[in-house]
Amino acid sequence: MHTGSARALRIVTVVGARPQFIKAAAVSRVIRDHYTGLIEELLVHTGQHFDDNMSRVFFDDLDIPRPEYNLEISGGGHGAMTGRMLEAIETVVLDEKPDWVLIYGDTNSTLAGALVAAKLHVPVAHVEAGLRSFNMRMPEEINRLLADRVSNLLFCPTETAVRNLAREGICDGVHEVGDVMYDVALYYRNRARQESSILERLGVVEGGFVLATCHRAENTDDAGRLEEVVAALGLIAEAIPVVFPVHPRTRKLVDSHGLGRHLERVTVVEPLPFLDMIRLEQSARVIVTDSGGVQKEAFFCRVPCVTMRDETEWVETVELGWNTLAGVSRERIVLAALESPPAPDTDATPYGDGRASERIVEILANGAD
Ligand code: UDP
Repeated sequence: MHTGSARALRIVTVVGARPQFIKAAAVSRVIRDHYTGLIEELLVHTGQHFDDNMSRVFFDDLDIPRPEYNLEISGGGHGAMTGRMLEAIETVVLDEKPDWVLIYGDTNSTLAGALVAAKLHVPVAHVEAGLRSFNMRMPEEINRLLADRVSNLLFCPTETAVRNLAREGICDGVHEVGDVMYDVALYYRNRARQESSILERLGVVEGGFVLATCHRAENTDDAGRLEEVVAALGLIAEAIPVVFPVHPRTRKLVDSHGLGRHLERVTVVEPLPFLDMIRLEQSARVIVTDSGGVQKEAFFCRVPCVTMRDETEWVETVELGWNTLAGVSRERIVLAALESPPAPDTDATPYGDGRASERIVEILANGAD
């Protein structure tokens, strides 16, 4: 642990999207619980996700401190959004003079935080570094590559991520710490069982439904692919109840492309608070998703997952037999969801031991000595 510094280590953390709130919750808790007076964290919320059920509920339920800055930047194209973020985050970093800028994952908020800090010569720490889909059509892949290239500390969730960085010649500052999402899953799994009544509220039973999510631009922004996804969910719902918490962007595009008819038998709900989501994941027979976080949470709960993509960054889930890449053909999705053989039992722990956040904060604290 960091000791004896005259002033607290000052960290500006940039978050903006739902999965980043969840990841930051784990790291911020360690800072608050164990580094009081030693580390001062200032939270910047870019505003990328702003709906109450995509943002505020996570701050409330996961005990994340109120952000010091809310930049209220959302919508528009990638260029406009990222550009406005660059300008606003630069002002914050110039005013606050942090020792580190801490970024998470692979969104436009991640990229903006990384670029601002690098150009102002403030060291960058990237949580969830080294992930690669090798698909340059994904905006997330571009954000990850660029953020990693300018990061000084690269916190990798897996061995695969470390190897990916090595292949790009990035070795300095690389630490395999485990996955902060696993920390979060362990921390909240019992609370979700005890506190969430979502099964009763939705009228579904343990092991008796499929849980689905879809929000990747590659699936939502292409009307043909989106139709395959929703048609697949509709077909699965003829056999077994399907619960579909819909991302706001997906809902908008389903409506604007007139695809709602496919979802008549599907239980479509608003985006769920985290404990309700975890409770559903724990109880689903199968999870069908294109989300990175949900693929892993399925594995943490040992629930088979069908991923509606052609590749995944979380290759361990596939290698261990718990995740099937089905692309977006409706036949393949339905077949994988309804007929996949039971996944093999495994006690493999490719995502660490639930202490990734502790390691991250310790390295940050020592890194400034
Ligand atoms: N999540 C949630 N409510 C929902 C859908 C997802 O709390 O209605 C959580 C989910 O459990 C996971 C995270 O959001 O922890 C995943 O975020 P998302 O799918 O938006 O992004 P990705 O992981 O693909 O970057």
